[in-house]
Amino acid sequence: MTSTTRVVVLGAGYAGVHAANRLTQREDVTVTLINPYPVFIERIRLHQLAAGTGGAEVTLRDVLAPAVRLRIDTATTINAPDRTLTLASGETMPYDYLVYAVGSTSATLDVPGAADYAYPIASLDEAQRLRAALEATGPTAPVVVVGGGPTGIETATELAEAGRAVTLVCGRELGPSLHRKGRAHVARELTRLGVTVISGTSATVQTAARDAVVLSDGRKLPSAVTIWTAGFAVPGLARRSNLSTDNLGRLLTDETLTSIDDPRIIAAGDAAAPSGVPYRMSCQAAGPLGAHAADTVLRRRTGAEPEEFSLRFVGQCLSLGRSAGIIQLARAGDEAIALHIGGRAGARLKEYVCRATIDQLRKEATTPGSRRWVGDGSRAAQLAAASGAPSGPRRTINR
Ligand SMILES: Cc1cc2nc3c(=O)[nH]c(=O)nc-3n(C[C@H](O)[C@H](O)[C@H](O)COP(=O)(O)OP(=O)(O)OC[C@H]3O[C@@H](n4cnc5c(N)ncnc54)[C@H](O)[C@@H]3O)c2cc1C
Repeated sequence: MTSTTRVVVLGAGYAGVHAANRLTQREDVTVTLINPYPVFIERIRLHQLAAGTGGAEVTLRDVLAPAVRLRIDTATTINAPDRTLTLASGETMPYDYLVYAVGSTSATLDVPGAADYAYPIASLDEAQRLRAALEATGPTAPVVVVGGGPTGIETATELAEAGRAVTLVCGRELGPSLHRKGRAHVARELTRLGVTVISGTSATVQTAARDAVVLSDGRKLPSAVTIWTAGFAVPGLARRSNLSTDNLGRLLTDETLTSIDDPRIIAAGDAAAPSGVPYRMSCQAAGPLGAHAADTVLRRRTGAEPEEFSLRFVGQCLSLGRSAGIIQLARAGDEAIALHIGGRAGARLKEYVCRATIDQLRKEATTPGSRRWVGDGSRAAQLAAASGAPSGPRRTINR
């Protein structure tokens, strides 16, 4: 094919920016990136923004290749049969290939009272609203963080280090994705920072009110500000557009990241579900997924067979305030192992990783095609385990 190919990338997160920048390798490809804001949101720093210990906004143009056309808008419908998008501005935009990288959001707050009184922290708006709420309360007012996963732990420690009186309500277990030893380390750090940790079968919030939360065993915890970090959702755009999704609404793709409905739609990041077995919500996965989505587009437009995606997770990096952190190492398949790096070294490494995520975007902008990552030979086994069948639900479409 010699004519120009129009690629539209939806969403300027870690996945979408990687994809857009990488697509500029070819002069006969025009790349339009659509995002509601002209800023790149470092979601991995939103807990810092909320606590007032750091910012999370980077001018989007600063991490984009000059050839990427940036449109500030929101897609409201994908009209796959026509290969067009309807935008919130009312415009209809045609595409030859679409990269679906709309990311994730906070979960629907369906616990009674939570939608009215709890503050999620998954988006810039939410983190800013939380920060305003924290600033409006006295420094000693009780704060309850709901959710014992990475975001809950990072938020609780950041606020406790800033002098807040924090209770962390974990649900069954603190840090379920950590190794037992890593979890014990995090528990010690929480104690050092004065965080009250509540975990176990009754550590689930049953109702939230203006000044308290009530747990399933009836315990009432005073709370001037309740922060909701539990759960995860994705934008409803794919489902609304009658594309196949998983239960949550992530776009279903094959292992090349191509929609199972349409070879012109490629997905990446938190909003993608390859073979119905999505990668862990992370910028660690979103960047390589975005880069691979671009590679799939570039191969498909020439009629070449796209390659299957594979990623070996290194582990998880959690900040525990500004002066400590933990790097929980993992084996292939993203399973936590008994090794971790904690303390100040953990904090320094976590900060290095946060900066590196932005450096990687800039590098792909100046040298498109440069992003590399290590594959994981255990993906086939993961798919098989997820399906309960020897071969798994693996699908590769070549049309
Ligand atoms: C507080 C917090 C801490 C975290 N810490 C870590 C961490 O330490 N390490 C880690 O690996 N991960 C971390 N994560 C997870 C990580 O931020 C996400 O997995 C990552 O942002 C996913 O990248 P993405 O590109 O898929 O989507 P996003 O970064 O969510 O970007 C999606 C973009 O799409 C845009 N968009 C949405 N709908 C539309 C539409 N209809 N039209 C156009 N644009 C649209 C959004 O506005 C957004 O700009 C954290 C998340 C949170 C909330």
